[in-house]
Amino acid sequence: MANFLIDSQEKRTYDAIVIGSGASGGWAAKELCDKGLTTLVLERGRDVKHIKDYPTASKGPWQFDHRGTVPLDERKDFQQTRFVREETFHWAIKDDEQPFIQEKPFRWFRGYHVGGKSLLWARQTQRWSDFDFEGPVRDGFAVDWPIRYKDIEPWYGYVEKFAGIAGNKDGLPELPDSECMPGFEMSCIEQYFKESLQKNYGSRYLIQARCAHITDPQQIHVDQGRHKCMNQTMCNRGCVYGAYFSSNASTLPWAMKTGKLTLRPHAVVHSIIYDEKKGRATGVRIIDSNTKEPIEFFAKIIFVNASALNSNAILLNSTSSRFPNGLGNDNGLLGKYVSWHNYRGKANAQYEGFKDKMTDGRNPSNAYIPRFRNVRKQETDFLRGYAIGVAGGRGTFSDTEMIGDQLRENLLRPQLGHWHVATWMMGECVPEEKNHVRLHMDLKDKYGIPQLIVSCEWSENDDKMVADYVEQSKEMFEKAGFVNITAVDTKSPPGSDIHEMGGVRMGLDPKTSLLNAWNQLHHCKNVFVTDGACMTSTGSQNPTLTFMALTARAANHAVEELKKKNL
Ligand SMILES: Cc1cc2nc3c(=O)[nH]c(=O)nc-3n(C[C@H](O)[C@H](O)[C@H](O)COP(=O)(O)OP(=O)(O)OC[C@H]3O[C@@H](n4cnc5c(N)ncnc54)[C@H](O)[C@@H]3O)c2cc1C
Repeated sequence: MANFLIDSQEKRTYDAIVIGSGASGGWAAKELCDKGLTTLVLERGRDVKHIKDYPTASKGPWQFDHRGTVPLDERKDFQQTRFVREETFHWAIKDDEQPFIQEKPFRWFRGYHVGGKSLLWARQTQRWSDFDFEGPVRDGFAVDWPIRYKDIEPWYGYVEKFAGIAGNKDGLPELPDSECMPGFEMSCIEQYFKESLQKNYGSRYLIQARCAHITDPQQIHVDQGRHKCMNQTMCNRGCVYGAYFSSNASTLPWAMKTGKLTLRPHAVVHSIIYDEKKGRATGVRIIDSNTKEPIEFFAKIIFVNASALNSNAILLNSTSSRFPNGLGNDNGLLGKYVSWHNYRGKANAQYEGFKDKMTDGRNPSNAYIPRFRNVRKQETDFLRGYAIGVAGGRGTFSDTEMIGDQLRENLLRPQLGHWHVATWMMGECVPEEKNHVRLHMDLKDKYGIPQLIVSCEWSENDDKMVADYVEQSKEMFEKAGFVNITAVDTKSPPGSDIHEMGGVRMGLDPKTSLLNAWNQLHHCKNVFVTDGACMTSTGSQNPTLTFMALTARAANHAVEELKKKNL
């Protein structure tokens, strides 16, 4: 028996453990395996094999039993999943998988399967600039970032080349150029709006999206077995071409090819094990979701990539006599300064021109207006600013108010409508201490893990920013000569943007932050947190590219430190 245990513990020991197999965890796995470390990826959800496990990927609308609608009895256990559709129902999470407590209204979107939300995302990728990294210190909120653009710049390029980014080099200091392949063309209405903004504002730019799609495959993509985007715009079902970046198409199979990766699905991480004598973390406790059996795994370094709120939850649940309030939490700030993006504002308009033009084909991406408010100096009564997503096209409609031959005729020959433009704001939220997550003292989930309490609310700064977006959208549309303009505050609750960040923020001072400049816990250096939880502030860019670049940077640093025997 004793022998069995020793043998068993040996078998459960790796050089590195990565918690979570999503966008950031996939990068940790790839980098650590590439550098020769035996790496265990622990993933709470089921396995999803690239191509094989995308059951609806190539189906036509007529091939779904209910034309896409999920019948009421089948969706009754999925009340928390928004946009329940037959095409994507395979990604839905049952409500009892992980109940959480909304102390204030909060939407928490999760992807619990191998690949995480990298299979579900909209793939927009913009770099941060020093206008973002210097934001907290310039505007006096949160704490100073311990890094600047120059520290992450090479890692942006590194991640972009491997992932494959489509876009344009626009030469804007506030949105540094990416390493990119040809972008997706703008429609004529977007092009027209771009020119109108230039003429009327000068410093408001409408640019092609920068997004994680392969439009001109390079050798590095061929080596991953990935192909050019076919513009099907069915990305959220899983892409059989591997054209958009996901862990499943890219980083995980790459790591697997090294022979160093062990991927363990159905492994719900409970907590990180801290050894008081060694003064370091030694492993991770999981609950097997099939058997409910607790199992421990061991490693020299641990990467926490369970997505922002889950990474907070895992650290808060990792208590010991050295860290009674959660791993690394000497200053009591773990779980605090949680933040997100402000997507409350939406606007629409129509244009009566370009009647001789129509769109042809599909565009899997959108145009983008980088942040123009308060970039170089403070100019409004709210802090920071917002970027704007833009989608413009020309739809068709059919009069279906009848039956018989005329109905068939109308459906076969739809009429072209006006050109229309839809925009949505992507605002930077200023992290505040009161916005936090914590563990419930008594309530547990079905794995015996304390439930997470999420306590987040909008601030006056957010309200003012939405009002500005609404006003500015109307003005920009009017100046472009658009008609039927609407611009509204949807009042959607925090979390609706799906960009949760913070709670384990990076910083220079262990008294006011949890992580150092390399994403190591100040007080437990062999634990690295490199998903959204590490973010000191939120910027207005889509955040995942930055999570991935920080992860690759931290993983390479971890390997260097291991070599130097510093960990
Ligand atoms: C519809 C949609 C559109 C989006 N669009 C964009 C966009 O355009 N641009 C952008 O930048 N971002 C976008 N996002 C957000 C983006 O998907 C996330 O920022 C990104 O996936 C976060 O990466 P991650 O590694 O932190 O988490 P995830 O990708 O969510 O991966 C976390 C993994 O950890 C696992 N896990 C969680 N808890 C545990 C546990 N206790 N034990 C073991 N495993 C655990 C999960 O199952 C999951 O697989 C979008 C998201 C959605 C859903």
